[in-house]
Amino acid sequence: MPEGIVEGKTLLYDRTIRAVTSEIDTDVVEVYDAKGAYLAPGFVDIHIHGSGGADTMDATEEALSTIARILPGTGTTAFVATTMTMSYERIVAALEAIRRYETKVGEATLLGAHLEGPFLNPTRSGAQDPSHIVPPDTHLVSSYADIVKLVTLAPEVEGAEAFVKTVRERFPHIVLSIGHSEASYAQASEAFAWGVRHVTHLFNAMSPYRHREPGIVGACFDDESTTCDIIADGVHLHSHHLRLIKRMKAEKTILITDAIRAGCMKAGRYDLGGRTVRVAESRAVLPDGTIAGSVVKMNEAVRRYRDETDATLCEAVYAASTAPAALLGLSRKGRIAIGCDADMVIFDEDLGIIRTVIGGECVYEE
Ligand SMILES: [Zn+2]
Repeated sequence: MPEGIVEGKTLLYDRTIRAVTSEIDTDVVEVYDAKGAYLAPGFVDIHIHGSGGADTMDATEEALSTIARILPGTGTTAFVATTMTMSYERIVAALEAIRRYETKVGEATLLGAHLEGPFLNPTRSGAQDPSHIVPPDTHLVSSYADIVKLVTLAPEVEGAEAFVKTVRERFPHIVLSIGHSEASYAQASEAFAWGVRHVTHLFNAMSPYRHREPGIVGACFDDESTTCDIIADGVHLHSHHLRLIKRMKAEKTILITDAIRAGCMKAGRYDLGGRTVRVAESRAVLPDGTIAGSVVKMNEAVRRYRDETDATLCEAVYAASTAPAALLGLSRKGRIAIGCDADMVIFDEDLGIIRTVIGGECVYEE
């Protein structure tokens, strides 16, 4: 709850949360006893490519459904399907599939699309195929403005300023984020002034945090209103950086998984944006060793963030539910409050998921 952990109460809900009370009439309602476990708002993943063997770039209803069905087992109740930098046709096909998709009972809610590229800096492409990187172009965004929630771009490339200013003015609901970028401290600060307000996987795939050139990280730390997201998988960031980010960005920190097709799957070889990724020991890498997305589950990210920083359980949950919902302007999600959607997760002390409820329906049970 916004006020911290509340004990010994009963939550009354149907599709939405109706009350937090001490008295209920057990004759008229169905009762679930959480037996001392924690109940929290369901997690909202704003950066996820795939899971369970499926990827957003498969551009099929089946792929999106596979991802949506597996996520409740990780505590995620809503997600933003994230595209990769591939050909224009492939990205359009993925966006078409997302637009057509209707979330079914038993699935995490598909909120829309996150365009991770193709407007990136080839020098910081990471696992994104640099041959498909193109200059920023508002056409793609305006054609799919009804479903695009986030765009990750490099603000230092030619045409980025006009792109940012146009999107901010015409589609203010779309969150623009710096990522896969070589921007200097000055360039990143300028981008925030244009209207970029978020940073994608802070520290990863960007200009480094140096003593004389603090880069994007320094600009993000200095800009109080800017939010950032991080991959707390034990691979992408040293725990020192988790603590540093927690201290500098506090409630502006958002946990993402950046999970790929191999998420919730066993070790092996998988495709990611047309490239082969090898997955072993919770690490996903390209043949040259470049880290390629993650296989972390959101409940594991919450546990790591709590255990490796001084974050309380409430703060860690906030970073996975309330903060991402707020970034996307979703007033009915990410909170346990009267009138909000009954999207909730019940877990134990180690963040093991016991039960997940979406829109009032139990969709996952241990
Ligand atoms: Zn990604």
